[in-house]
Amino acid sequence: MSEIPTDKEVGFVPTMGALHQGHLSLVERGRERSDYIVVSIFVNPTQFNDKKDLKRYPRTPERDLQKLKEVGVYAVLLPTVEEIYPNYHKESSEVEAGESGVNLNGLDRYGEGAHRPGHFDGVVEVVSRLFDIVKPNFALFGEKDYQQLVIVRHMVKKLNYNIEIVASPTIRESDGLAMSSRNALLSREEREGAPVIYEALKEIESYLKMAHATAEKSHKRADKGKESIKAVKEMAIKKIEANPLFKVEYLLIVDGNTLLPIEHLNESDLLRATIAVVVGKVRLIDNIELKTN
Ligand code: AMP
Repeated sequence: MSEIPTDKEVGFVPTMGALHQGHLSLVERGRERSDYIVVSIFVNPTQFNDKKDLKRYPRTPERDLQKLKEVGVYAVLLPTVEEIYPNYHKESSEVEAGESGVNLNGLDRYGEGAHRPGHFDGVVEVVSRLFDIVKPNFALFGEKDYQQLVIVRHMVKKLNYNIEIVASPTIRESDGLAMSSRNALLSREEREGAPVIYEALKEIESYLKMAHATAEKSHKRADKGKESIKAVKEMAIKKIEANPLFKVEYLLIVDGNTLLPIEHLNESDLLRATIAVVVGKVRLIDNIELKTN
């Protein structure tokens, strides 16, 4: 492995493997800026609140390495659990879920944070550990995991890392389903129905655009917005759950900075709809930015 010249930047893409085009898009984006891209593949046990989910998580290291060879990266980090967490208990295969020590200021109060207790502590813990090992100048994260992206940015500020966090857009299959390693776990029938999630998010966007325009002209602006949010959420949930295989775990319309649910459309300039849907044994998450004008 060649030395990295001191005037060159190191870009970092942390992943849990089972790589798809979404992951590779982060690498490609990083390569636009630097030839020195490091990718890590590590299925982090501390961010899984559900041990069955951890066990089931797809692992395809050989195929991943082949894909990374094809796109061209500087180095791939494949650490063991013991290397990342020296206090790993071999017998019980458990890791002491350490407190990350970072106050998340409520960013984990809703969404994934509310439904996967301890998840973001685990994410902060592993990302900071990986940052300490790789020492990158910049790191790329996907908007697909929007709450994670916001929390990582927050962590970088709190822990004073001199690392730029670069956000990369969600890559989707041609039918709109957000690419995810977990998509491989869907049955044919579940996979066929899954594009409804993105369709529902797009419908929320167009409905709110319309509601916003109407509310602008209305005297009861704030109230109207409140009704619209409730109505549009009900509409989207109904659309998705029309298929009995799909159950919406949460659907939120949040301020894109604070991640707190909004009540009125004019409350924030940066709106995001975020969703988790349970399909059989699989949980799918997605989100979109809501442009209201
Ligand atoms: P994961 O392996 O799921 O932990 O994801 C590793 C990185 O890839 C995270 O920054 C994710 O947000 C990003 N990522 C996963 N899926 C996608 C996608 N469909 N589009 C863009 N980025 C993604």
